[in-house]
Amino acid sequence: MNPKEIIALLRNSFESGKTRPVEYRIQQIKNLKKMIVENEEKFLQALKTDLHKSRHESIVMEIQFLINDLENILAEIRDWVKPEKPKKPLVNILDNLYIFNDPYGVVLVIGAWNYPFQLLLMPFAGAIAAGNCVILKPSEVATACCNLVSTLVPKYLDPDSYKVYAGGIPETTLLLKEKFDYIFYTGSSNVGKIISEAASKHLTPVTLELGGKSPVYIDKTADINMAVKRILWGKFANAGQTCVAPDYLLCSKDVEQKFVEISKVILKKWYGNDPKKSLDFGRIINDNHFKRIEKLLNNGSVAVGGETDASERYIAPTILTNISSNDPVMMEEIFGPILPIINIDNLYDAISFINKREKPLAMYIFSKNKKDVDLLIQNTSCGGITVNDTVMHLAVDTLPFGGIGNSGIGNYHGKYTFDTFTHKKSCLYKSFALIGEKLGQARYPPYSERKTRL
Ligand code: NAD
Repeated sequence: MNPKEIIALLRNSFESGKTRPVEYRIQQIKNLKKMIVENEEKFLQALKTDLHKSRHESIVMEIQFLINDLENILAEIRDWVKPEKPKKPLVNILDNLYIFNDPYGVVLVIGAWNYPFQLLLMPFAGAIAAGNCVILKPSEVATACCNLVSTLVPKYLDPDSYKVYAGGIPETTLLLKEKFDYIFYTGSSNVGKIISEAASKHLTPVTLELGGKSPVYIDKTADINMAVKRILWGKFANAGQTCVAPDYLLCSKDVEQKFVEISKVILKKWYGNDPKKSLDFGRIINDNHFKRIEKLLNNGSVAVGGETDASERYIAPTILTNISSNDPVMMEEIFGPILPIINIDNLYDAISFINKREKPLAMYIFSKNKKDVDLLIQNTSCGGITVNDTVMHLAVDTLPFGGIGNSGIGNYHGKYTFDTFTHKKSCLYKSFALIGEKLGQARYPPYSERKTRL
C-alpha cells in the first residue's frame, strides 16, 4: 500500500469511531504487551544483530522499560481518558466546565535506530491509549529490528487502525507529503528540521525528540569513585549511542587526573583487558557512523582506550584529554564511545561554556555543594537534569522527557505521552436557566456606559 492508501484506510477507521472506546484501546495495549512478551527472544536477537546489544541492556533498557510503560498505561488509562473538570471562575458558577481528552486522528511516529524498540513503541502505546490511528515508521538503519516490527505489529494489532511503513529517506519523504494530525519524531536535529518544515505545510503539530551535546560538570567535592562509575555507565552503555549519554566532561585538571586513573580501573573491571571480547560492550551501528566517530579520535590526546577495528565496527571505550573548545569533537554530538574532557577553572566557566552552545538534551552535575548545583541549574537551559548521576531522569515516568531549542520540542513518558497525543478540547456548558440569562443581560445591545462598566 502507498502512503495515501494507508492514510485513507486509517482515517476511515478513525472516523468510524472504532478507536475511541477505552476497552478497545486497552485491548490493543494488551496485544502490544503480548507481542513483546511472546517474542522476547526475537527482540533480543534483533538487537544483538544490529547493535551487538548485551542481553542485560536489551532487557533493562528496551524490553522491561517498554513493559513497565505498558503496565502503567493499563493501570491508569481509565483515569486519563476521563474529561477533566477545571476550577470555575465566579462568573461561571451556574455553568459546567469540561476539558475533553480528544485523540488527534491519524498520527505518524518516526523512530530512531539506537533504541529501536523503545523509541518507536513507547510513543506508539501513548498514541493508542489516546485513541489515535497510527502509522509507525521504524528506522531502516537498525535493519533486523525494523524487519521484526514490520512482521509482528500486523499480527498482534488491529490492521485497520495501525500500520507499519518501513523504508529509508525516499519513503519517509513520500510519507511526509501527506497530511497527518500529529507527527512524533525521534532522531537528529538536522532531520528534525526537515520534519518540522514538512509538518508546517499542513499546520500539523509535532513532537521532536532530538539530540545534542549533553555536558557533565564535576567538581572536587563530588564522590569521585561513584561519579566515575555513573558517568562511564551513561557514556559507554550501547557504545555511547544514547541520546542522553554524557557527551563531554567539564572539570579542573586535578579532577581530570583522578577521573582518568579511576576510569582505567573501572573499565578493566567491567569489560576486561580487551573490551572487544566483552559481551557487554556494543558496536557502532554502521560503517558511516564508524568512520565519522573514528575520525574524532584524532582530537587531543588519548588518555584511555583509542583502539578500533573497522571489520567489527568496534571503537574502544575512550577518554580524550587536552581538548580545546573548537576541536571537531566539540562541534558535533559524538554519539559513540568517546568522552572528551575540557578543563575549566570554576563553576562560572562551566556555565559560560554551556550557555555558548546549543541547548542540550540533558545536563549532569556531580557536586556535594548544593549552592553550586542550584547555580548551575538556574543559570543554564537544557531538556532535563540528573544531579549526581547520568541518564536516570529519563527512567522516572512522572518526569516529562524532552528537549528544548536544538534538542527538541515537546515531551513524553508516562502520562505525558498520553497528553502529547491528546487534544485538550475545552467545553463551556451553559443551561437555559432564566437566572443565568438575566445575569448576562449586560452583553446585549443597545450598549450603555452603565452596561459597559458592570
Ligand atoms: P536520523 O535523524 O538520521 O533518523 C531518524 C529517522 O528519520 C529514521 O526513521 C530515518 O529513516 C528518518 N530520516 C532520516 N533522514 C531523513 C530525511 N532526510 N527525511 C526524512 N526522514 C529521514 O537519526 P538517527 O541517526 O536515527 O538518530 C540519532 C540522533 O537521534 C541523535 O542525534 C540522537 O541524539 C537523537 N536521538 C534522540 C532521542 C530523544 O529521545 N531525544 C532518542 C534517540 C536518538
